[in-house]
Amino acid sequence: MAIIGIDLGTTNSLAAVWRNHRVELIPNAAGEYMTPSAVSVEDDGTILVGQAAKERLVSHPDRSAAGFKRDMGTGRRFRLGEHEFSPEELSSFVLRSLREDAERYLGEAVTEAVVSVPAYFAEGQRAATKRAAALAGLRVERLLNEPSAAAVAGERVGEDEQKLILVFDFGGGTLDVSLVEMFENVVSVVAVSGDVHLGGRDFDAAIARAFCQDCGLEWNRLTPRQRGNLLHQAEVCKVALSSREPVLMSVMDGEISASLILTSEWLLRKCGGLFRRMTAPVRKVFLDAGMPPSELDDLILVGGSSRMPTVRSYISRFLKKEPVRKYPPDTAIALGVGICAGMKEYAKDLRDLILTDICPFTLGVDVINQSEPGRLLMSPIIERNSVLPTSRMGVYSTTRDNQDKVEIRIYQGENRYCADNTYLGKMELSVPPAPAGEQSIRIRFTYDVNGLFEAEAVNDVGESTRLLLRNGDMTEEEVRARLLELEKLKLHPREQAVNREITARGERLYAVTVGRARYQVGQMLDWFQAQMATQDPLKIASARRTAARFFDEVEAYLQNGWPDGEEPEDDV
Ligand code: ADP
Ligand code: MG
Repeated sequence: MAIIGIDLGTTNSLAAVWRNHRVELIPNAAGEYMTPSAVSVEDDGTILVGQAAKERLVSHPDRSAAGFKRDMGTGRRFRLGEHEFSPEELSSFVLRSLREDAERYLGEAVTEAVVSVPAYFAEGQRAATKRAAALAGLRVERLLNEPSAAAVAGERVGEDEQKLILVFDFGGGTLDVSLVEMFENVVSVVAVSGDVHLGGRDFDAAIARAFCQDCGLEWNRLTPRQRGNLLHQAEVCKVALSSREPVLMSVMDGEISASLILTSEWLLRKCGGLFRRMTAPVRKVFLDAGMPPSELDDLILVGGSSRMPTVRSYISRFLKKEPVRKYPPDTAIALGVGICAGMKEYAKDLRDLILTDICPFTLGVDVINQSEPGRLLMSPIIERNSVLPTSRMGVYSTTRDNQDKVEIRIYQGENRYCADNTYLGKMELSVPPAPAGEQSIRIRFTYDVNGLFEAEAVNDVGESTRLLLRNGDMTEEEVRARLLELEKLKLHPREQAVNREITARGERLYAVTVGRARYQVGQMLDWFQAQMATQDPLKIASARRTAARFFDEVEAYLQNGWPDGEEPEDDV
C-alpha cells in the first residue's frame, strides 16, 4: 500500500508518490496535476471537487466554496445549498478526490499520506488538517511545512557543502517565508515567518475593487454572482499581465458593462500596499535566525503568485540575489512532500536524506503577573523555531504560603499575555505545604516531528502529572459518526469529471454573458448534453473539444470584445 504526498493548497492541491526510485506527480481525472481546492454541491446532492467546482463559484456561488484552508480550525461553517460544512470537511472532499485519483493511477488502495501545511499554521490548524485527512480515509502521521518540502524538491548539496536557502512561497492565500539549511545529507529549517493573509486572492480582490473604482461601479452594490465574475476576470487579467501587457479587462454582466486597460504600472499603483507587505516576513526570518541576508546562498521562489514579474524583481532587488530557476513554482512543494512520503515508506531508497522540522510557534505556560495580577503572563518553554524533535524544561515555584496544588495552563503563541495566545489544555499537580516560593515545579515539554506534544510536571517530592496532546485526533467514534454522514454524500463519478468540467464552464459563461453570446452558450450546452446522451465515447470526446474551443472564443470575447464587425446584436 503506497503512501502518497499531498500539497493541500488554499487554491490548488496536488499529489505525488515515490515510485521506481523517483518522485512522480499524480494526474487527476482531467489529466492535470493541479486540482483547484474548490467544492460545490449539485442540486441532487452530489459533491463536485476541482475545476468544475471552481467554475461554479461564479454560476452557483451559494452552492460552492473555495479558499476554506484559510479558515481551518476556526469553527467557521460554510453553507452550500442545503448542507453545512466545516473547513476541514470541505478539505476532506478535496483529499478524497486526490486519493481516488492516486488509487486509479497506482492501481492500489491508498490509506496513508504525508500532507504539507503552511509553516505558519498553528496547532489548531494542524489538528484540523489531520481531521480532514481522517475524514477522507487517510491516515496522516506526519505534516510537513510547505517551504521545507519545496527545498527538498531541489538538488542535494554535495559532500562537505553547506547551503542556506530562502524559500519564498507566494500562493493563493498565504505567503510563507523560510530559511532552510542543507548540510551534506541533512535538511533543516532554521526559521520560518510569513503572512497568513497575503496571497493571490488578495490581488484579485484589489484588482476587482480598483476596477470598480476606476469604472465608477460600486463594489458593495454588486450581486454575489457579479462579484464572483469580477474576481474571476481579475484573476485572468492578473495572470495575463505576468506575461504580456497591456491587458484589457472587461466585464459585461447584467446591468454592468465596463472595461479598462491594465498595465503593470497600474497593477503596481493599485496593489503597491500588497507588494510592500511581502518584505516584512523576509526581514523577520533573518532576524529570527540571527543571520544577515548576506549569508544567503540560494533564493527559491515558489507558489503561483511568485510568477508575477513584480514579485520576482521586488524580492531579488531586496535580497540582492537572483532566484534559482530550476524549481517549478507550481509543483515544487508536491514533489517535496512526495519525496517525504517516500522516505516514510522506503526509508532505504532515500537513506541519504535526513529531514528535521521546526516548531513554528512558541509553547509555554501561564505565570502570575506581579504588576498586573489580572493578566497572566506567558512563560515560554519551547521557543518558536526550535528544531524538532525537542524537549525543554522550565522551573517554576509556588506563589502562596501553603499552596496545596498548582494549575498549569498551556498556551501557544507569541504574545506576552496568555489571554492573547491560544489555550491548549491544563494539568494539575499537588504540592507539599511550604512557604511561598519554597516549592519548585519542573515542567518539561516534549514535541516531536509527528505533532505529538507531551507536557509533564514534577514537584519536589517526585510526584508528577502529564498531559498528552496529539494534534488532530478525534475519537474513533467521532470520526466514524461524521464519516457515515459524509459518505452519504457521493463525490461526482471520476469518469465523468472531464464532461462535468465542460458543462460547469458553459454554465459559468451562460451566467456572465447576455444577448446573443448567452444564447449561443446555451445552445452549445444543449448540443453537448445531446452528444453525451449518445454514450459514444468517441463522439463525446470530439464534442468536448468542440465545446472547449467555442468556450475559449467566448472567453476571448469577454476579455477583448468580438473582432471588428462581428459585434453580436442583442436578442429582443
Ligand atoms: P496555493 O498554494 O494557495 O494553493 P498556488 O501556489 O497554486 O496556490 O498559487 C495560486 C495563486 O497563484 C492564484 O492566486 C493564482 O491566481 C496565482 N497565479 C498563478 N499563475 C499566476 C501567474 N502567471 N501570474 C500571477 N499569478 C498567478
Ligand atoms: Mg501552495
